[in-house]
Parts: sequence; C-alpha cells; structure tokens
Amino acid sequence: MAKRIGIIGGGIIGLSSAYYLNRAGFSVTIIDQGDLKDGCSFGNAGMIVPSHIIPLAAPGMISKGIRWMFNSSSPFYVKPRFNKDLLRWGYQFYKHSTKSHVEKAIPALREISLFSKSMYQQLYRDLSFDFGYHEKGLLMLYRNAETEKEEIESARVANKAGVKANILSLSDIQKLEPDIRVKARGGVYYPGDAHFTPEVLVSGLIAYLKDKGVVFQTGITVTGFQPHAGIINVIKTDHGDIDVDGLVVATGSWSGTVMEGLGISLPMQAGKGYSFTLQDVKMNTRIPSIFLEARVAVTPMGTTLRFGGTMEITGVDHTINMKRVKGIVDSIPNYYPEMNVAMPARESVWHGLRPCSPDGLPYIGRSKKWENVIIATGHSMMGMSLGPGTGKLVSEILLEQKSSIAIDAFDPERYDN
Ligand SMILES: Cc1cc2nc3c(=O)[nH]c(=O)nc-3n(C[C@H](O)[C@H](O)[C@H](O)COP(=O)(O)OP(=O)(O)OC[C@H]3O[C@@H](n4cnc5c(N)ncnc54)[C@H](O)[C@@H]3O)c2cc1C
Repeated sequence: MAKRIGIIGGGIIGLSSAYYLNRAGFSVTIIDQGDLKDGCSFGNAGMIVPSHIIPLAAPGMISKGIRWMFNSSSPFYVKPRFNKDLLRWGYQFYKHSTKSHVEKAIPALREISLFSKSMYQQLYRDLSFDFGYHEKGLLMLYRNAETEKEEIESARVANKAGVKANILSLSDIQKLEPDIRVKARGGVYYPGDAHFTPEVLVSGLIAYLKDKGVVFQTGITVTGFQPHAGIINVIKTDHGDIDVDGLVVATGSWSGTVMEGLGISLPMQAGKGYSFTLQDVKMNTRIPSIFLEARVAVTPMGTTLRFGGTMEITGVDHTINMKRVKGIVDSIPNYYPEMNVAMPARESVWHGLRPCSPDGLPYIGRSKKWENVIIATGHSMMGMSLGPGTGKLVSEILLEQKSSIAIDAFDPERYDN
C-alpha cells in the first residue's frame, strides 16, 4: 500500500507538495479549513522573482517601517499589541536586520528562487492548461534620489550574486513599455523574472490533482495530533481523526498555532496585503513592475491589470482597510500619469495573509522532533515564486533523496530551543 501523506493546507505550498508527492506514488490527502477558492495563493501579484534575493529583514527596514507606521495610507503597518508572539517575532526581525544576515540569506534565496523558476518552466510544459506563464522580467521603478541610490545598490548586489540587473533611464524604460506613458526617475530591469495568473494555476492544480486521485477534505480544521513512538500517526480535526503515515504542515499564516500542537516553536506573523484588478485594459503594460516608493506591484495578466500592495502586521485579521487601498490607487498616476484608476468597491478588493517568518527565509525541512513530519511554510511575499521549488523539495525529503539544493538555511526548528 502506498504511504498515506496528509498535507495540512491547500495553498500554493500544499498543492505543489501534493503535485510532486502524487507523482512519486504517495497516497495524498489535503486538509484545509477553507474552501480553497480565495486564499492567499489566489489574488496575489503572480510574480516569480529570482530578483528578490535580499530578505525583508535587512538594515534600514526598521527605521523605514517606523516612518511608515505614522501614515494611514502607507504600505506598511504593525498594529501595536502586547502579544507575546508578536513581541518575539519583532525581536527576531530586529536581530536579523543586519548586513551579515543579508549576506548569508542571499545565496540561499537565489538558489531556491532559480530552482523554483526551473520547476515553473517544467510545470508549464507538463500541465495541459495555460496559467499565463511569461518570462518578461520585472521593472523596478523609482521616483526619487534616495530610492534610486538604494535600488542601484540592490542591482549591484544582484549582479554580484549572478542575478542579472540592468539600470535603465526613463527613455530605456519607455522603450520596454511603448503602450503606456511612464513617469520615473529611472529603474532597474531584472530580465530573469517571470509572471503568471495565480488563480488560474491554483484552480487548475486542484482539478488536476483531483483527477489524479488526491483527496481533498475542505472545511475541516486541524485541531491537534496524536503522537506514537516519535511519529505522528493521527491528525485530529473538528470532523474526526485522519490516520496518516506522514504529514506536511503547509498552513501559511496559521502555522505558528498549528506547530504549537506539535510542541515546536515557529515564529510567524500574517502580513496582510490587498489587490484589485482592472478588466479589459486597452493599453496595458507589457512587463510587471514595482512602484518602489509606494511598494505597489503591478502585473499584466492577459487583458487585465492587477495592482497589489501593503503589508499590515495585524494578526490573522480579514478586515479591509480602504485607506490603504486608497494609498495603492493614489500611487498609480505618480508612475503611470495617463492611467486614471477609480477607487475599487470594497467587495472587489481581494486580500491575502502572507506567512512571514522574522528572518525573511522560509521554513522547509523535516522536523527533528517528529520523524515523519515535514514543515513547508513562511514564504512571506515569495510563496508563489517559491511554491513549486518547495513542493519538489518536500517530495525529495519524504523520499529521503538528496535535495536538489541545500536547505540548511530553511531549518524549520531554527528558533526552537
Ligand atoms: C497582495 C499580495 C501580493 C502578493 N504577490 C506575490 C507575488 O507576486 N509573488 C509571490 O511569490 N508571492 C506573492 N504573495 C505572497 C503569496 O501569496 C504567499 O506567500 C502564498 O500564497 C503563501 O502560500 P501558502 O500555501 O504558504 O499559504 P496559504 O495560501 O495561506 O495556504 C495555507 C492554507 O492553510 C490552511 N490552514 C491553516 N490552518 C489550518 C488548520 N488548522 N486546519 C486546516 N487548514 C488550515 C488555510 O486555510 C490556507 O488555505 C503576495 C501576497 C499578497 C497578499
């Protein structure tokens, strides 16, 4: 009988893990508390970003964050609360916002990003549906001298690490984007980035996996675990027990709580972001871009154009703050002066909770405490980008194969002591 693997969480990480585990011959069940129709892996900006090799925890981020905290339409906010998980997370973020951490994180992030992109290329060839995958790069646009200096430094770091980055003048940018007028001091172009339409990939993967025999148990919350001799052989849920031979925890922003049930400390905060999508755009952008000062991501997806942004550390909270959405809307004419975008209605604003680790690195690996438990979460703003790579690594760990890339930096129990 094939080994029974329970995957908790059906976002991009759980689905990608299921894809490779199913192909490897495991009998897979995905358990999710939601209906898999609108989670964090749906309405995001769909960027595949080998360009993002500098983690969020980096020098200068704390002072920038404090400045943003006092502006209600800014892209970043931490809700002040006396919560022990938040305080611990904040302390670890502070501790990792150093040059030496960034230097250690860069090779790890570069390797997993490039590996995951190669998995996307293979998925695009292997899957029978078109999820809008394009390799058109990413344009980072800046409007002021301070951001220009920072971005040119990031480009230098990227080139040194082997990730190509070209510094562009406004006229160079305009040649890449001939259909819309761009206003910027300049930009950096990362030709190795790619993009796709996330909700098409996610719903297509669900249909594909169902067809291949993966079982989906949705609307079911995992409440605990039953251990036996160093392994977990029963997942406890609000709808009864599920027997397993192994399990993958891919529970995104909820992972801190789920891992408590396994006696493992895993710092995690939800980073809420919003997006809205313009339909039937006549003059669309050709290349995804990021408005650097506003921290807004813009992705063309067929005839639609998606704007996404903000990072609100407010706990697992699903309220929509229209002031921050307005911050995104107001930033658009600063970079695309001829694009007049009206405020979207609250109902058409999508939100997602990014699972953020304090050091900006994901948690991927086998638990030291429970031999048959694999953890795969904490991908923050890069979960889509790193999804297939992570799924493949999960399958290699379960198969006890040598992993395609080094994963020591992603040790899920690095904070557990
Ligand atoms: C505005 C915005 C833009 C973004 N743009 C990009 C981008 O361009 N590129 C990129 O790479 N990333 C992007 N991201 C980040 C990306 O969306 C996330 O990193 C990714 O979706 C996380 O996937 P996940 O599978 O880890 O978590 P999720 O998709 O959140 O899945 C976790 C699942 O676990 C389930 N779960 C949790 N606890 C339990 C439990 N106890 N029992 C049962 N089920 C449980 C949840 O219901 C959920 O479905 C963006 C995010 C936002 C908000």
